[in-house]
Amino acid sequence: MVNIIDGSAVAGRLREEMAAEIKVMKAQNGIAPGLAVILVGEDPASQVYVRNKEKACEAVGIASFEYRLPTSATQAELFDLVSRLNNDKLVHGILVQLPLPSHIKESEIIAAVDPVKDVDGFHPVNVGKLSSGLPGLVPCTPQGCMILIKEVLSDLRGLRALVVGRSNIVGKPMAQLLLQADCTVTTAHSKTRDLPGECLQADILVAAIGKPEFIKGDWIKPGATVIDVGINRLKTEDGKNKLVGDVDFAAAYERAFAITPVPGGVGPMTIACLLRNTVQAARNINGL
Ligand code: NDP
Repeated sequence: MVNIIDGSAVAGRLREEMAAEIKVMKAQNGIAPGLAVILVGEDPASQVYVRNKEKACEAVGIASFEYRLPTSATQAELFDLVSRLNNDKLVHGILVQLPLPSHIKESEIIAAVDPVKDVDGFHPVNVGKLSSGLPGLVPCTPQGCMILIKEVLSDLRGLRALVVGRSNIVGKPMAQLLLQADCTVTTAHSKTRDLPGECLQADILVAAIGKPEFIKGDWIKPGATVIDVGINRLKTEDGKNKLVGDVDFAAAYERAFAITPVPGGVGPMTIACLLRNTVQAARNINGL
């Protein structure tokens, strides 16, 4: 029987564990983990993401502080805000919702966040730590994918893993985590010559492309574990919105050993891991 990896359930379990941990931190150490979320501009998708992150914080007992800046905000204004939050004792995590308006240099803002508060794990210091195998804050989506993989595979050593996509947010850190788990890792991208052939060799396939149902069922190695990061919005014939992943789920299901659905797979794990990183940052900052 194929395992459908229930990301919503795993994320729910993590949230419960965190809520209990935060209660203890508050009672024993007087520390309430705090997350500052910065949103620049009016992008509707970003507004939804930010709202969901704040709700998730409240549900586990993390204080959330929202900072909304207009699209016209300057780079200097953003630097000032980040610098203030870097020095704010109540703030343990800082999240700058991406994308930023085009007149702001994203990489410079990311680099301005104190690495100990970089709960997205995008700061060059945390990227370097991940690739050197040192403890640091690990990007949320790949962290969530690893937890889901470990739900169904107890020993990853020597397995062939293919990551399709090489973004800084998902693909690259995902490949690092799989390498740390002793997989034999390949990263594919838009210039890869024989993607179906690469997929067919993969015991673990992580798809992070952003193209609806791009990975076909007959590309899946029989018995593979398939993690679908993609979130693509399609219109159905009756004009409704439908979310699909980067993998043709129905066809891949026929061959996989385990597979994540979209929605309800990786998505809920990303937010759960953001909360995890915030708690971790609060612990690190307070030497717990
Ligand atoms: P990016 O657009 O930054 O990266 C996409 C990657 O896919 C690139 O490396 C690109 O290659 C590769 N790619 C594009 N076309 C092909 C192709 N034909 N064959 C092979 N590789 C290809 O996207 P992200 O990494 O940010 O996100 C990927 C997907 O994951 C999106 O659907 C996004 O919405 C979703 N996502 C979901 C999250 C969640 O919580 N579930 C969180 C983050 C993202 P190249 O580098 O050569 O251009």
